[in-house]
Amino acid sequence: MNFLEERIAKDGIVKPGNVLKVDSFLNHQMDILLMEEIGREFKRRFADANITKVMTIEASGICIAAFVAREFGVPMIFAKKSKSVNLDGEMYTAQVESFTHKNVNQVIVSKKFLGAEDRILIIDDFLANGCALQGLIAIANAAGAKIEGLGIVIEKGFQVGGRAIRNMGYRLESLAIVDAMDAQTGAITFRHQEA
Ligand code: 5GP
Repeated sequence: MNFLEERIAKDGIVKPGNVLKVDSFLNHQMDILLMEEIGREFKRRFADANITKVMTIEASGICIAAFVAREFGVPMIFAKKSKSVNLDGEMYTAQVESFTHKNVNQVIVSKKFLGAEDRILIIDDFLANGCALQGLIAIANAAGAKIEGLGIVIEKGFQVGGRAIRNMGYRLESLAIVDAMDAQTGAITFRHQEA
Protein backbone atom coordinates (compact mmCIF):
# COMPACT_ATOMS: atom_id res chain seq x y z
CA MET A 1 0.00 0.00 0.00
CA ASN A 2 1.23 3.52 -0.72
CA PHE A 3 1.08 6.32 1.86
CA LEU A 4 -2.41 7.37 0.86
CA GLU A 5 -3.91 3.89 0.73
CA GLU A 6 -2.51 3.30 4.22
CA ARG A 7 -4.19 6.46 5.47
CA ILE A 8 -7.52 5.60 3.83
CA ALA A 9 -7.39 2.09 5.31
CA LYS A 10 -6.70 3.57 8.75
CA ASP A 11 -9.07 6.57 8.82
CA GLY A 12 -11.53 6.25 5.93
CA ILE A 13 -15.13 5.35 6.76
CA VAL A 14 -17.38 3.58 4.26
CA LYS A 15 -20.89 5.01 4.20
CA PRO A 16 -23.99 3.59 2.52
CA GLY A 17 -24.59 4.93 -1.00
CA ASN A 18 -21.01 4.38 -2.22
CA VAL A 19 -19.63 7.29 -0.22
CA LEU A 20 -16.18 7.12 1.35
CA LYS A 21 -15.83 9.55 4.22
CA VAL A 22 -12.35 10.96 4.68
CA ASP A 23 -13.21 14.10 6.60
CA SER A 24 -10.62 13.53 9.35
CA PHE A 25 -7.73 14.16 6.92
CA LEU A 26 -8.97 15.35 3.51
CA ASN A 27 -12.49 16.79 3.35
CA HIS A 28 -13.01 18.71 6.58
CA GLN A 29 -10.04 18.57 8.89
CA MET A 30 -7.02 18.50 6.60
CA ASP A 31 -3.69 16.84 7.34
CA ILE A 32 -1.27 19.37 5.93
CA LEU A 33 1.77 17.08 6.02
CA LEU A 34 -0.27 14.62 3.97
CA MET A 35 -1.18 17.45 1.55
CA GLU A 36 2.55 18.13 1.14
CA GLU A 37 3.19 14.51 0.35
CA ILE A 38 0.31 14.49 -2.16
CA GLY A 39 1.76 17.61 -3.81
CA ARG A 40 5.18 15.98 -4.11
CA GLU A 41 3.71 12.76 -5.49
CA PHE A 42 1.81 14.55 -8.28
CA LYS A 43 4.99 16.51 -9.09
CA ARG A 44 6.87 13.22 -9.38
CA ARG A 45 4.22 11.65 -11.61
CA PHE A 46 3.88 14.67 -13.94
CA ALA A 47 7.53 15.79 -13.82
CA ASP A 48 7.85 15.44 -17.60
CA ALA A 49 4.88 17.71 -18.33
CA ASN A 50 5.51 21.41 -18.75
CA ILE A 51 2.64 22.56 -16.52
CA THR A 52 1.80 26.28 -16.49
CA LYS A 53 -1.31 26.15 -14.31
CA VAL A 54 -3.07 23.80 -11.90
CA MET A 55 -6.87 23.84 -12.10
CA THR A 56 -9.50 22.49 -9.72
CA ILE A 57 -13.08 23.09 -8.57
CA GLU A 58 -14.26 24.54 -5.30
CA ALA A 59 -14.36 23.69 -2.51
CA SER A 60 -12.56 20.50 -1.60
CA GLY A 61 -10.09 20.56 -4.48
CA ILE A 62 -8.64 23.93 -3.56
CA CYS A 63 -6.28 23.02 -0.76
CA ILE A 64 -4.93 19.95 -2.57
CA ALA A 65 -4.43 21.86 -5.82
CA ALA A 66 -2.62 24.63 -3.92
CA PHE A 67 -0.04 22.15 -2.63
CA VAL A 68 0.37 20.67 -6.10
CA ALA A 69 0.80 24.14 -7.65
CA ARG A 70 3.40 24.94 -5.00
CA GLU A 71 5.48 21.96 -6.14
CA PHE A 72 5.31 23.05 -9.80
CA GLY A 73 5.84 26.72 -8.92
CA VAL A 74 2.81 27.79 -10.97
CA PRO A 75 -0.54 29.50 -10.21
CA MET A 76 -3.59 27.53 -9.17
CA ILE A 77 -7.05 28.44 -10.44
CA PHE A 78 -10.33 27.04 -9.16
CA ALA A 79 -13.65 26.92 -10.97
CA LYS A 80 -16.25 28.73 -8.89
CA LYS A 81 -19.77 27.51 -8.35
CA SER A 82 -22.01 30.33 -9.44
CA LYS A 83 -25.75 30.88 -9.20
CA SER A 84 -25.60 33.89 -11.46
CA VAL A 85 -27.25 33.50 -14.85
CA ASN A 86 -26.17 36.99 -15.76
CA LEU A 87 -22.93 36.10 -17.49
CA ASP A 88 -21.19 38.78 -19.44
CA GLY A 89 -19.10 36.69 -21.83
CA GLU A 90 -15.99 37.11 -19.73
CA MET A 91 -16.36 33.67 -18.21
CA TYR A 92 -15.97 30.09 -19.37
CA THR A 93 -18.86 28.06 -17.97
CA ALA A 94 -19.85 24.42 -17.55
CA GLN A 95 -22.65 22.52 -15.83
CA VAL A 96 -21.52 20.10 -13.10
CA GLU A 97 -23.77 17.64 -11.31
CA SER A 98 -22.64 17.05 -7.75
CA PHE A 99 -22.24 13.42 -6.71
CA THR A 100 -22.48 14.20 -3.00
CA HIS A 101 -25.14 16.92 -3.07
CA LYS A 102 -27.21 15.65 -6.03
CA ASN A 103 -27.69 19.12 -7.46
CA VAL A 104 -26.41 20.83 -10.60
CA ASN A 105 -24.04 23.77 -10.35
CA GLN A 106 -22.92 26.14 -13.00
CA VAL A 107 -19.15 26.53 -12.63
CA ILE A 108 -17.23 29.47 -14.00
CA VAL A 109 -13.64 30.49 -14.70
CA SER A 110 -12.70 33.99 -15.76
CA LYS A 111 -11.26 34.27 -19.28
CA LYS A 112 -8.59 36.49 -17.74
CA PHE A 113 -6.92 33.54 -16.05
CA LEU A 114 -7.02 30.75 -18.64
CA GLY A 115 -5.91 30.85 -22.26
CA ALA A 116 -4.57 28.94 -25.26
CA GLU A 117 -0.99 29.29 -23.99
CA ASP A 118 -1.77 27.28 -20.83
CA ARG A 119 -0.77 23.68 -20.18
CA ILE A 120 -3.09 22.48 -17.47
CA LEU A 121 -2.93 19.89 -14.74
CA ILE A 122 -6.45 19.27 -13.42
CA ILE A 123 -6.63 18.16 -9.77
CA ASP A 124 -9.53 16.98 -7.59
CA ASP A 125 -10.08 15.06 -4.38
CA PHE A 126 -12.46 12.35 -5.64
CA LEU A 127 -13.42 10.82 -8.95
CA ALA A 128 -16.79 9.08 -8.99
CA ASN A 129 -18.93 9.49 -12.11
CA GLY A 130 -16.61 12.08 -13.56
CA CYS A 131 -18.98 15.05 -13.75
CA ALA A 132 -16.61 17.42 -11.97
CA LEU A 133 -13.69 16.47 -14.23
CA GLN A 134 -15.83 16.66 -17.37
CA GLY A 135 -16.82 20.20 -16.41
CA LEU A 136 -13.18 21.20 -15.90
CA ILE A 137 -12.17 19.53 -19.19
CA ALA A 138 -14.93 21.47 -20.99
CA ILE A 139 -13.67 24.75 -19.54
CA ALA A 140 -10.03 24.03 -20.44
CA ASN A 141 -11.10 23.08 -23.98
CA ALA A 142 -13.21 26.23 -24.33
CA ALA A 143 -10.09 28.23 -23.43
CA GLY A 144 -8.01 26.33 -25.99
CA ALA A 145 -5.66 25.28 -23.16
CA LYS A 146 -3.78 21.98 -23.42
CA ILE A 147 -4.70 19.41 -20.78
CA GLU A 148 -1.42 17.72 -19.82
CA GLY A 149 -3.08 15.43 -17.32
CA LEU A 150 -5.52 14.91 -14.50
CA GLY A 151 -4.58 14.00 -10.93
CA ILE A 152 -7.05 12.52 -8.48
CA VAL A 153 -6.45 11.73 -4.84
CA ILE A 154 -9.10 8.99 -4.51
CA GLU A 155 -10.73 7.34 -7.53
CA LYS A 156 -13.70 5.06 -6.94
CA GLY A 157 -12.85 2.52 -9.61
CA PHE A 158 -16.25 0.85 -9.46
CA GLN A 159 -17.91 4.03 -10.76
CA VAL A 160 -17.77 5.07 -14.40
CA GLY A 161 -15.73 8.29 -14.31
CA GLY A 162 -12.19 6.91 -14.49
CA ARG A 163 -12.82 4.64 -17.44
CA ALA A 164 -14.66 7.37 -19.35
CA ILE A 165 -11.84 9.88 -18.89
CA ARG A 166 -9.11 7.36 -19.82
CA ASN A 167 -11.14 6.32 -22.88
CA MET A 168 -11.12 9.95 -23.98
CA GLY A 169 -7.34 9.60 -24.19
CA TYR A 170 -6.39 11.70 -21.18
CA ARG A 171 -3.54 10.88 -18.84
CA LEU A 172 -5.28 10.28 -15.52
CA GLU A 173 -3.27 9.48 -12.40
CA SER A 174 -5.09 8.49 -9.21
CA LEU A 175 -3.06 8.10 -6.03
CA ALA A 176 -5.51 5.50 -4.70
CA ILE A 177 -8.11 3.56 -6.67
CA VAL A 178 -10.82 1.93 -4.57
CA ASP A 179 -12.20 -1.08 -6.45
CA ALA A 180 -14.67 -2.16 -3.80
CA MET A 181 -15.94 -1.04 -0.44
CA ASP A 182 -18.43 -2.51 1.96
CA ALA A 183 -20.50 -0.26 4.21
CA GLN A 184 -21.35 -3.17 6.52
CA THR A 185 -17.87 -4.49 7.23
CA GLY A 186 -15.98 -1.28 6.45
CA ALA A 187 -13.65 -3.24 4.14
CA ILE A 188 -11.91 -1.26 1.39
CA THR A 189 -10.19 -2.97 -1.57
CA PHE A 190 -7.56 -1.04 -3.53
CA ARG A 191 -6.56 -1.67 -7.14
CA HIS A 192 -2.94 -2.68 -7.43
CA GLN A 193 -0.90 0.03 -9.15
CA GLU A 194 2.80 0.08 -10.02
CA ALA A 195 4.73 2.41 -7.71
P1 5GP B 1 -18.00 13.05 -9.77
O1 5GP B 1 -18.21 14.40 -10.34
O2 5GP B 1 -16.77 12.36 -10.31
O3 5GP B 1 -19.22 12.17 -9.86
O4 5GP B 1 -17.77 13.26 -8.22
C1 5GP B 1 -16.63 13.94 -7.80
C2 5GP B 1 -16.95 14.92 -6.71
O5 5GP B 1 -17.94 14.40 -5.80
C3 5GP B 1 -15.70 15.19 -5.91
O6 5GP B 1 -15.26 16.50 -6.17
C4 5GP B 1 -16.09 15.01 -4.46
O7 5GP B 1 -16.22 16.27 -3.87
C5 5GP B 1 -17.43 14.32 -4.48
N1 5GP B 1 -17.38 12.88 -4.14
C6 5GP B 1 -17.71 11.85 -4.97
N2 5GP B 1 -17.65 10.68 -4.33
C7 5GP B 1 -17.28 10.94 -3.07
C8 5GP B 1 -17.05 10.11 -1.92
O8 5GP B 1 -17.18 8.87 -1.92
N3 5GP B 1 -16.67 10.74 -0.80
C9 5GP B 1 -16.49 12.09 -0.73
N4 5GP B 1 -16.10 12.59 0.44
N5 5GP B 1 -16.73 12.91 -1.79
C10 5GP B 1 -17.10 12.34 -2.95
